[in-house]
Amino acid sequence: MGNHKKKRSQNGNLNRWIPDPMAVTWTEKYSDTINNFWKILPSTWYFYVRRRDRAEEWKCQPKKWLSPELERHEIILGSLTLFLNASTSALLACYIANGGYSTVYYNVADYGWLWFFLQWPVIFIYQDYVTYWMHRIYHTPFLYRNFHKLHHKYKQPTAFSVTAIHPVEALHIQLMDILPLFIIPTHWFPFYVVALYTYYHGIIDHSGVNFKAYWWQPWQPDAIFHDNHHQYFHVNFAFNIDYWDKLHGTYRRKDRVYTEDIFYGKGKRIDEVSAEELKADLKERESENPLAYRDNKMEFKLSNRELKAMKRPKK
Ligand SMILES: [Zn+2]
Ligand SMILES: [Zn+2]
Repeated sequence: MGNHKKKRSQNGNLNRWIPDPMAVTWTEKYSDTINNFWKILPSTWYFYVRRRDRAEEWKCQPKKWLSPELERHEIILGSLTLFLNASTSALLACYIANGGYSTVYYNVADYGWLWFFLQWPVIFIYQDYVTYWMHRIYHTPFLYRNFHKLHHKYKQPTAFSVTAIHPVEALHIQLMDILPLFIIPTHWFPFYVVALYTYYHGIIDHSGVNFKAYWWQPWQPDAIFHDNHHQYFHVNFAFNIDYWDKLHGTYRRKDRVYTEDIFYGKGKRIDEVSAEELKADLKERESENPLAYRDNKMEFKLSNRELKAMKRPKK
């Protein structure tokens, strides 16, 4: 009897750890949402493998593909850098969770609801603007040649390009982006969600697929915006808010030519470049997919008339 009782209580303990197979679990309840989320990542496989022969229907640069060597390069470099950034995050989280100095808080009531909602745009805008300037600075000749050029080996970026950055640069950006955790009262939740959003869009914007921003993201450029950055190098430095480029004159312009040797984000006027440079530039424009633009209209396409007018010497 004693033994029987003991066995039952052991089972009771055991039941606490083995979930009831009939119960509706959290994952089952939200399976549709989770499925939709995970569809995003396999979409790379879906497009690049299953619809490879119909690239003109979905690819930003349908005629060009990254070589297998560069694919391997970006997967290896991307994994290394991701590991470095993740380890830094893990160390930091450990430090904060164990009472190390930070301005992170966990109870909304500590600073009220107003600040809880206000910090979403504050964190997002701070990180995006800082990343714009970091990116722009890494596009100056010295930093570009020694660090950022590595990320620009991929002229046709894929979802794996997003973390394929020089480790020094990746760490530098990460350290700038986490500053709010030590300066302003930051609730963990908005910080976490903004980080997820940024990473999600990093994947989308490097995917090479003609993804468009949704109506509820008026600040967000379409995927072609950063694809252009990889195709034309020193232009379109922003990530999630393209307004920064419009504000600082580094947004791509139809009447400018951009190459890897034309620094500082403003390109060169059509009448300033050589005939070969212009020819190469027009060829690049031709290789773009109009379907990646709004209303399926390649907004940087130059008509012969426009071209003639731009080449005419100024009086
Ligand atoms: Zn860049
Ligand atoms: Zn990039």
